[in-house]
Amino acid sequence: MGAGVARVRVAAQECLGGNPGTLSQESLELFQPSDDQELVLRVVYAPIENSSGAHLTGFKVDAEAHLMVSHLTYISGLDTLGWRYREKNRQQWPMSYRFQAPKKSWHVKVVDSLGLEQVCILQIASSPDERLLENAMLDVDDSKVAATYAHRFNLQQMQAISGAAGPQAPQAPDAAAGPEALVSVAVQAISDLVIDDGSAPRVKVAAPVACEVLASGYPSMVPVGTYLTLTPYAEKDVQKFIFDGISDEFSELPQAYFHYAAFSSGGKEYVCDIQGVEDDNGCFLLVDPCVLRSNLPTVRDLVGVVANTHSEVQSISGPTVDRFDTLHPKCSQACKTFDPQRRSALRNGKVGMCGMGTCGMNFAKCGR
Ligand SMILES: [Zn+2]
Repeated sequence: MGAGVARVRVAAQECLGGNPGTLSQESLELFQPSDDQELVLRVVYAPIENSSGAHLTGFKVDAEAHLMVSHLTYISGLDTLGWRYREKNRQQWPMSYRFQAPKKSWHVKVVDSLGLEQVCILQIASSPDERLLENAMLDVDDSKVAATYAHRFNLQQMQAISGAAGPQAPQAPDAAAGPEALVSVAVQAISDLVIDDGSAPRVKVAAPVACEVLASGYPSMVPVGTYLTLTPYAEKDVQKFIFDGISDEFSELPQAYFHYAAFSSGGKEYVCDIQGVEDDNGCFLLVDPCVLRSNLPTVRDLVGVVANTHSEVQSISGPTVDRFDTLHPKCSQACKTFDPQRRSALRNGKVGMCGMGTCGMNFAKCGR
């Protein structure tokens, strides 16, 4: 029903030139019910499961259940989300959709089929050609990977604090007394950070869902039939924690999380553009992180967004030791609970970002 009303409203607006401002008060009253239903969406992809590393919308894939979206609001504090796509930043990233296709972002009020209301960030590709289901799924998938690392990282930190690192913690097979002593000092240091409920400060990723637009009061900005993401994030500000390694202020927990993801993936995946908000307990809610992979680019990566004739750029801009060192210039105490020897390894002149010759970080310089 809501969709029908919204469609009528869209038709009326288009009839009057597409500008809501040209609608007479009478017309607006005629379509009054749609004022709270500026967009009608259907969730088509919601793969992120509940964990300590995910902050969920609760929205499920359901062909019958629609989301009613209203109060599309531009928030200047969300502009940070777009820094990734600035020209000087784009050059250092792979030529793929996730790093190269700018998006528009708004705060919106979303009401689900149960009548529950929440504030989300709606993101849609700026280019009409990019507003595809497969792209929205790529957006969601990066957050899914980041949330999985966040969950494991939170567990590892908890286990470190409880003094009994379990199987989830990456272990140094050849760790000798030296590293153990370092770990002990590090555990003591992060134990001081324990928050009210007895847990360690956590990293959570705001988990987006991909949606299809069924009806739209903004046909030019958010056309019917296109795809977008909704991410549960009510904060009015997005702060960069790890972005370009130059302008970043060192922020301990996000830095340790970045190191953990790289370390536990064996250097194959870096969770980049770590941004969001820190709460009063020192917990971090991250939004729209980007995953940098060592995989070879797909054909779509190369031709999908920007015609790319410089495939060597791809290999340089992948996960490399140099990039790791730029983004993560030093380790925090939290890092030392899982990789105590990074610094000592570098002093010893070994190649690689962790001190353990048998750990997963065995890729060559520059990933070649
Ligand atoms: Zn570190």
